Amino acid sequence: MHRFSRHYRLRYGGPVGKIALDLGVPCPNRRQGGCAYCRAAGFTPFYLAPGAPVTVQLAEGRRYLFGKGFVRYFAYFQQETPTAAPLDALFNACHTALADPACVGIIVSTRPDALPDAFLDRFADLAAAEEEREFWIEVGVQSAHDQTLARINRNHTWTEAAAALARIGERPRLGRGAHLIFGLPGEGREEMRATVERVVAAGIEAIKFHHLQVIAGTALARQHARRPVPLFAPDDYLRLLAELLTLVPERVVVHRLWSTAAPDLLVGPQWGLSSHELNVRLTAIMRQNGLRQGMHALSSR
Ligand code: SF4
Repeated sequence: MHRFSRHYRLRYGGPVGKIALDLGVPCPNRRQGGCAYCRAAGFTPFYLAPGAPVTVQLAEGRRYLFGKGFVRYFAYFQQETPTAAPLDALFNACHTALADPACVGIIVSTRPDALPDAFLDRFADLAAAEEEREFWIEVGVQSAHDQTLARINRNHTWTEAAAALARIGERPRLGRGAHLIFGLPGEGREEMRATVERVVAAGIEAIKFHHLQVIAGTALARQHARRPVPLFAPDDYLRLLAELLTLVPERVVVHRLWSTAAPDLLVGPQWGLSSHELNVRLTAIMRQNGLRQGMHALSSR
């Protein structure tokens, strides 16, 4: 598997992490009720102090990462929908991060309907001016099926997600990533497989996989309390992941393989397994079945 950790360790000669940053601007989809599974606190790293100046967030993130042996990092605008913030605030924060030689690049995570040309053009200009660094946009796709997207209140379509990926691709210095969730209500193996095939065909260069988690206080948690939502057992998820990884071309960097919500907010599934244990099981499943990333990919582009 072509994993983020190995890809960047080879490139930079040492471990590269990500420092999550928060611009303090709520996601515009919250005005429409928000995504059914989303609660910001569920995915906020413990070292991140929302509302603190970016310099403080970076310092705290560095203290945490470097304490674990990392020597470089991506500034990761992950919280909420950073492109909904005033562009000057976002780009000032980018410049603050880039002033640190240990910062190897910027990743901006966003919604398909929150990618104005004004942001894309400015981000591409920044990328052109910072040739040694990488500039990525991670698009929240979740599913390529409009029925599912409606069910979880995403308030965008697959067509919009595909168009967002295409528009990023028009700027050659910008990398394209897709964020997917497996196990969304109403979806089975075929729907998830089709989603992977579609984002691969859209030309992504990075991918993040998540299994559906129910977070306390969300619409999904209320639905789950009324009528339980089917959730993955660990080995079922890992078998599916192993199979779907075969569809992802080898050149695509895998940034994430499962969700890691804050344990005190997690309603389910409660796996009680560390990332290390999940890695060991996934590797064993892939080895036992002779599977490797990309072996069944339709396209190696
Ligand atoms: S778009 Fe992202 S931040 Fe906004 S509500 Fe949905 S999952 Fe949460």
